[in-house]
Amino acid sequence: MELDFILSKEEEKPTGKTELIYDLLIIGGGPAGMTAAIYAARKRLATLLVSKDLGGQVLVTAEVENYMGYQYIEGRELVNKFKEQVSRFPIDQEIGEEVEELSQEKDVFSIFTKSGKKFRGRTVIIASGKRSRSLNVSGEERLIGRGVTYCSVCDAPFFEGREVAVIGGGNSAFEAVLDLVKISPKIYLVDIASTWRADTVLVKQIEKEKKVTFFPRHRVKEIKGKERVEGIIIEPLDGGEEKSLSLEGVFIEIGLVPNSEFSRSLVNLNEAGEIVVDCSNHTNIPGLFAAGDVSSVPEKQIIVACGEGAKATLTAYQYLLRLR
Ligand SMILES: Cc1cc2nc3c(=O)[nH]c(=O)nc-3n(C[C@H](O)[C@H](O)[C@H](O)COP(=O)(O)OP(=O)(O)OC[C@H]3O[C@@H](n4cnc5c(N)ncnc54)[C@H](O)[C@@H]3O)c2cc1C
Repeated sequence: MELDFILSKEEEKPTGKTELIYDLLIIGGGPAGMTAAIYAARKRLATLLVSKDLGGQVLVTAEVENYMGYQYIEGRELVNKFKEQVSRFPIDQEIGEEVEELSQEKDVFSIFTKSGKKFRGRTVIIASGKRSRSLNVSGEERLIGRGVTYCSVCDAPFFEGREVAVIGGGNSAFEAVLDLVKISPKIYLVDIASTWRADTVLVKQIEKEKKVTFFPRHRVKEIKGKERVEGIIIEPLDGGEEKSLSLEGVFIEIGLVPNSEFSRSLVNLNEAGEIVVDCSNHTNIPGLFAAGDVSSVPEKQIIVACGEGAKATLTAYQYLLRLR
């Protein structure tokens, strides 16, 4: 690292080893985290970016038409552009690491990863985004990648000629059906609610499709299959008889949940599990900030996440200046 750290220092441990206390730890390498990292490098903060991957949800976004500067760009291509920009700055990175715990002792934060690593910093930006919500039914976890999927954009092409179910009633479920009607002979759309939450234009389009059978007010009870998905069992909410549907793919599109569990003991979360922030990305803990989809900021979009990541670093910088 070649930066003029504003505060960071090496601390001598009883073992004789030294340990760096970073100015800023960023958790998450999606649009919010990568933008935060660039702003941090430009402020010459000693920064460490810790993330499971670089790209976040944009890695599973087929097309982006609402990111300024590009009329149209594929999600993966946009991620490559972000990565290229990050790589131009001397930012320490620990990619492939999942943060399991965040704690604070006096004015220093520690993060602990699943693989047993520990990193320390004077400020932290949590930019860990969201992940797909699971159904929590028997067979689901065991058959992930073997017929159970949470990403129609990524996986629909693998189900050409196969009968499938889409679970959910919002825009992402209907968009999944829209992709699948082109390639699949039969699609079951199963949702717990009685009315669809997707945009009317999408609903009207899908309701015309003869290949689609609708099961509103039905709950998935079980996903069946030994090596791969072989079917699902659904039951009506009004207590009628359950049905067994033979099929080879289950697309679970029932929304997203924030990746905020590791911060739960420190920060205030709202009812949705999002980290509550003010308009400058402060959480309830001084020195701890949040940005992007994991935070309570209303709109979940790439451009919003990038803006929030930038703001969070600038706020963290002001906080560090006051510590100096
Ligand atoms: C299918 C799909 C299509 C979309 N299409 C568009 C679109 O066209 N236009 C648009 O503007 N938005 C779109 N969005 C929304 C957009 O992708 C998100 O708003 C944006 O990616 C949020 O960025 P983020 O950095 O806050 O979080 P994320 O992108 O979720 O990134 C979070 C990062 O944190 C990491 N992480 C999570 N937990 C941990 C942990 N415990 N330890 C370490 N790292 C962790 C993840 O690996 C990831 O790198 C789409 C989303 C989806 C799912």
